[in-house]
Amino acid sequence: MTEGGTTVVIGAGVSGLSFANWWRERHPGASVLVLEAESEPGGYCRTVVQDGFVWDYSGHFFHFKDPAIEAWLRARMPGQEVRTVQKRSTIRYAGRDIDFPFQKHIHQLPHDEFLECLVELYFRPAGDAPPRSFGEMLYRRLGKGITDKFLRPYNEKLYATDLDRLDVDAMGRFFPHADIADIIANMRPRPSGAGDGGYNATFTYPAGGAVQYIHALLHDLPAGTVSCDEPVTAIDLAARAVITPRRRIAFDRVVSSAPLPALARLCAVAHDLAVFSSNKVLVFNLGFDKKGPRDVHWMYFPDRGLVFYRVGWYDNILAPAAGAPDRMSLYVEIGAPHDAVFDVDALRQRVLDDLRREAIVTNHQLVAHHHVVLDPAYVHITQASLAETARLKALLADHGVHSVGRYGGWTYCSIEDNLIETRALAQQLS
Ligand SMILES: Cc1cc2nc3c(=O)[nH]c(=O)nc-3n(C[C@H](O)[C@H](O)[C@H](O)COP(=O)(O)OP(=O)(O)OC[C@H]3O[C@@H](n4cnc5c(N)ncnc54)[C@H](O)[C@@H]3O)c2cc1C
Repeated sequence: MTEGGTTVVIGAGVSGLSFANWWRERHPGASVLVLEAESEPGGYCRTVVQDGFVWDYSGHFFHFKDPAIEAWLRARMPGQEVRTVQKRSTIRYAGRDIDFPFQKHIHQLPHDEFLECLVELYFRPAGDAPPRSFGEMLYRRLGKGITDKFLRPYNEKLYATDLDRLDVDAMGRFFPHADIADIIANMRPRPSGAGDGGYNATFTYPAGGAVQYIHALLHDLPAGTVSCDEPVTAIDLAARAVITPRRRIAFDRVVSSAPLPALARLCAVAHDLAVFSSNKVLVFNLGFDKKGPRDVHWMYFPDRGLVFYRVGWYDNILAPAAGAPDRMSLYVEIGAPHDAVFDVDALRQRVLDDLRREAIVTNHQLVAHHHVVLDPAYVHITQASLAETARLKALLADHGVHSVGRYGGWTYCSIEDNLIETRALAQQLS
């Protein structure tokens, strides 16, 4: 069966659903079909409710820069409590808790290590040419002490790659830059209530979990717009048709949020697969019978001897106003190379052992657990990936196929960035 010309969206995550909204706002009554491979919408912005615990597909917290975007979403979340939380994040370093970001809190280190970081910062290598990699940028901006104690081990656990492979700007605005003046100024106690100046000094979080934003994006879409369990298996660029196991759909335009190398394969467009490397993240959501530490939302772990790089406490964000039980509710993130094979049971046990080692779990009983693998999770942004992404996006756009989103753009971004990008595309294509 072939259906008439339409706007086909691939993926019912934040990017696909937001494009469908922006397009219909500009073209009321236009035919938009969102095809989703999975059995439910949401992509990585999904929530699991299990045994009274509310868990996401990893800690998803929201830092909207544009109040209009946030207001647009909130207007479509009737009755949903959205909490604004002053962020409390720390780094567990050699048994003590240092405020995040590390580079702005070296004065909280043991005295000898503080002096070492300060001296290395002052005498950091200058260099004539701009730094060529993310790893080199860290040494050149922050010195060997700060880099080797936190930035390199932590980010190598997260990205599961050598930082010298990554582009200087691999983390974009998400990297908390600080110069010597900032670092020294920050050694004086701040007036109470002043944040750390990072991009996410406060964050918001809906009581019903991150999926509430997906519900908001579904709110105005007519029934039948989203078709789940319907993967796109090929795109015929010459005939301008999208093919799924159920049908062949003639398109006016395609907007895809599938990972860019997968989209290139669907379109049978030659591409350099080797440049699209990424990590994957195994997320454990763990529910315990009683509360643990109370004054922290998430904690970073640079110690290579610990299996996880980050642990977060849902219970300290939601409880008690949202009715969350008086129990510890954790997400635990493990970074791994793309081709790693996970022994989930053994890793869960290792996580519990490491949580005990760090005194996060003491006399607690694990009463519920869940896990999910995000693959890809963090893409490795390199000079080669940037060039190949730009080339493929331009080539596909010439055929009416537009690649968007975190993985369609092979980038590092937030859900707000996904909304902003797709709004601009809807405007451009109109
Ligand atoms: C560990 C982690 C933590 C994060 N934390 C935050 C946070 O705190 N705050 C924040 O704002 N953002 C966060 N993000 C980023 C956020 O998850 C993404 O920006 C957002 O979810 C990306 O949405 P998307 O629609 O672009 O992609 P996705 O969510 O990946 O959606 C793409 C969809 O396309 C579908 N699809 C793929 N191929 C096909 C096909 N062939 N046919 C049909 N469907 C297909 C997939 O099934 C999926 O549903 C985090 C990301 C990660 C990995």
